Amino acid sequence: MKNQRGHVIVLPYPAQGHINPLLQFAKRLASKGLKATLATTHYTVNSIHSTTVGVEPISDGYDEGGFKQSPGVEAYLESFKSVGSKTLAELISKFSDSASPVNCVVYDSLLPWALDVARKFGIYSAVFLTNSASVCSMYWHINLGHLTLPVKQETEPLLLPGLPSLAISDMPGFLANPSSHSAYLAVIMEKFGRLEENDWVFCNSSEVLESELMKAMWGLWPLVMIGPMVPSAYLDQQISGDTTYGASLWELSSDRYLTWLETKPPNSVIYVSFGSMADITAKQAEELAWGLIESNMHFLLVAKDSRDKLSIETVNSVEERGLVVSWCNQLEVLAHPAVGCFVTHCGWNSTLEALSLGVPMVALPQWSDQPTNAKFVEELWQVGVKAKKNEERIVTRDELERCIREVMAGKKGEEIMKNATKWRKLIIGTVSLGGSSDKNIDDFVGKLVEGEG
Ligand code: UDP
Repeated sequence: MKNQRGHVIVLPYPAQGHINPLLQFAKRLASKGLKATLATTHYTVNSIHSTTVGVEPISDGYDEGGFKQSPGVEAYLESFKSVGSKTLAELISKFSDSASPVNCVVYDSLLPWALDVARKFGIYSAVFLTNSASVCSMYWHINLGHLTLPVKQETEPLLLPGLPSLAISDMPGFLANPSSHSAYLAVIMEKFGRLEENDWVFCNSSEVLESELMKAMWGLWPLVMIGPMVPSAYLDQQISGDTTYGASLWELSSDRYLTWLETKPPNSVIYVSFGSMADITAKQAEELAWGLIESNMHFLLVAKDSRDKLSIETVNSVEERGLVVSWCNQLEVLAHPAVGCFVTHCGWNSTLEALSLGVPMVALPQWSDQPTNAKFVEELWQVGVKAKKNEERIVTRDELERCIREVMAGKKGEEIMKNATKWRKLIIGTVSLGGSSDKNIDDFVGKLVEGEG
């Protein structure tokens, strides 16, 4: 590796919540002078646009329909591993005779096989973790045998270094019920078993957001915090280049929702979205819609698939008071002054986006790491409240309405707003030039540009 100029291939898992942060990272590297190429599947390649990052296709074995074309998670991950390894290697080879040979692969933590491809070429490898460092620490403890699966009720509350005490219900669903998503869990555990083989382990978070954890884990694991990966245009930063979002796997609803937001007073609209993967039940969709209607507030509801689950009567009522869209530019919505509250499933990107834009949250976590993120929203950062589920595991309309009122009005609402503003400032500090996340990226870029020679 002698005196190579840096050229990084960035490889996201082809889902919205993975493409967004990895694409932002690629753009950030490009803004610092590296050549960055995003390698993504044929099915997603045309949904990604950038003026500063190259976008190249590789194959997951399902070029026509991606994941939806596969028989299931296990088969999809297997196919991506075998066909993806081969086509990623071909892409790296394609650049080898160019003026900018690839000298590093930054790969999504759900694609651990990319490490072997990087090793084959003798180039640097960096894994990019798309969960919070706190959630990653739980998986890490399991890998070291400090915690055994399934995590059981009698061990409650669980005490782990740098984390608040955790009930089973605060932990990623995979841990209490490993058989429910065994294919994902197998990949996660493979990744944590091999962390130290990488030259860098990046986490889409910041030392300011998880300071107690970082103190407790200091020197024990190799995590480098480089986030939150929110486009700089939304963070008052002076960073040149492509500062847009740049990827949408769904067609955006017409931008009528933005003109609609323009007509609403500041902090008066509830924005509601469950991200790209969570699928709420018909009963929950119904309670959600009625909770919004009965709140007497304006609302913008993203109902990707769950719209089908709302009765015609409910949809009609919803649209009198609010607006239902199938997909939107979430950052533009969160950045809009009319939006005063985000009812969210607490996917890690949505959580970071709301924290970065200073928008208070009502948390309705569904699966994966979302329960832990929701706990942190309520207790650690105190920027929102977590809605309680009833015995049928539903958040009722009354409970939703109560949470919305708590976040948007009264003394508690004021406190939450103050905290939200505080965290936004801290985040801007950490990602701005010279901030802790920015410095960590600079160290990486410096190493790649200089090489080792
Ligand atoms: N998102 C969007 N428009 C929508 C809903 C979501 O652009 O209508 C984006 C959102 O900004 C975030 C990503 O999709 O970056 C969802 O990621 P997250 O980790 O929050 O949830 P996931 O989809 O992975 O469950």
